[in-house]
Amino acid sequence: MKKLFLLIVLLSLLAGCAKPASPAALTSHSLSPVPTPTPAAAKPPLAWDDLSPYKRAMLQGHEGDVEWVEQNLRPTHYQLVLTLDWPVRIGGREWVRYTNNEGVSLSEVYFRLFPNCPGWQDSKSVVKRVQVGGENAAFSLEQEDTALKVPLAHPLAPGDSVIFTLDFSVSIPQHGGGNYSIFAYKDNVLSLAHFYPMIPAYDDKGWHTELAPSYGDLTYSDTSFYYVRLRTTAPGLVLTTSGKILRDIVSSDGVESWDIASGPMRDINLVLSRDFHTASEDVNDVMVTSYYLTGDRGGGKRVLRYAADALADYCRQFGPYPFNELDVVETGTTAGGVEYPGMVAISDQFYQEIGGFLEFATAHEVGHQWWYSLVGSDQVNHPWLDEALTNYSAYIYTQDIHGNRYAGRVFKVFFQDTYKRAADMMDMPIGLPVSGYSQTTYGAIVYGKGAIFFHTLRRQVGDDTFFAILRTYFRRYRYRIATPQDFLHVAEEVSGKNLEPLFREWGAQ
Ligand SMILES: [Zn+2]
Repeated sequence: MKKLFLLIVLLSLLAGCAKPASPAALTSHSLSPVPTPTPAAAKPPLAWDDLSPYKRAMLQGHEGDVEWVEQNLRPTHYQLVLTLDWPVRIGGREWVRYTNNEGVSLSEVYFRLFPNCPGWQDSKSVVKRVQVGGENAAFSLEQEDTALKVPLAHPLAPGDSVIFTLDFSVSIPQHGGGNYSIFAYKDNVLSLAHFYPMIPAYDDKGWHTELAPSYGDLTYSDTSFYYVRLRTTAPGLVLTTSGKILRDIVSSDGVESWDIASGPMRDINLVLSRDFHTASEDVNDVMVTSYYLTGDRGGGKRVLRYAADALADYCRQFGPYPFNELDVVETGTTAGGVEYPGMVAISDQFYQEIGGFLEFATAHEVGHQWWYSLVGSDQVNHPWLDEALTNYSAYIYTQDIHGNRYAGRVFKVFFQDTYKRAADMMDMPIGLPVSGYSQTTYGAIVYGKGAIFFHTLRRQVGDDTFFAILRTYFRRYRYRIATPQDFLHVAEEVSGKNLEPLFREWGAQ
């Protein structure tokens, strides 16, 4: 996920009618949390070779992507049986089938426990038990309890798989929760970003367990499959998720149970509220649904319009969106917007706006479905590769929907003016890790200067070639992880030009 810092900084320039965020809610539940019951399930809900639920999350004609990903990428499979003690705690059991896709044997596997990140307030992820292949296993915590290390009794050879079982419980902040309130109960909305133990990416630098700065994105992970069974006794909740809700049952004793399956996705998010209303639109058979809060019907409808237009535009410009749902969800996040696979969260602070920031933020976050969700990248060490391209994608949307004149104003305000303010103090390359910037320069350089870099590349190669580069990059790396070198290679291959001097000039390496 990512946050739209730059746009928040610039909010006052394009929109002036944002309502203040609602005060933090503190319920009596937070004082007396109900213990999470031990899950009854001894086995995961699905057979490991059953891919049929994941295909149900795919757009017709893209079901074959599930088989392709399974055979070619050998992704991690997550199955979770969870109990939600609304709204204070979630926990249960996670089964994970992990395949070693690296060129070396692995003597340990890591799981990230993001709710333990410094800066996340009043959230705690506790793993009570780990099993490897059905046997209890030792584990230890590193990186301020955000990285759980499971040593393997026998190294996992390339191509081999292992099944982990983790019992875990996570307490949920009943106020902002830090880190842009992406994991919190706030404004009557429960947002559960990154709540489960997640295996990070392993690349030529090894396991990525580093602590990321709080103002950038945290996750760097491979495409996986998720099957989630979520239960709660709390009545009247509306659930929205990455992926698709396959089943929603309320038993005679009042237990509501949802079964959820993802397509090939690199994360899964769950968001719940008793206060959600919905509006939907079919875009080329993709069901786009806006979840909005009581009193924000107008904003909810506008967000639906922006998201539907962005989805259609990016499908045309970049390539197909393969999932049969895209959800745009109003939450209490203090970021302008945050992206997840198959889901976009937009801050409730901006739902009174018409156009302006609300529109640009929605177009930006929908753009992340291509750059982050489908084409993955190292968001911690190469944030420009997704954020700058996504911000430039929102400019492309603006051009296509509103024309060049309005897009020119957006370009000046959102990209040039912000970059200039930072450059007047200290110019920096666009290709640093998040930790290479302050919070202020991160937004200005990566989102502002980075977007101008893509515009400069477009000018240098011409419109047709530029869009051919983006389409080729998308087609080649969707469901995979791309590096800056990969993008340069595609750009040079498609354009037939030596673009290294340009990339080097902007620090895009
Ligand atoms: Zn972003």
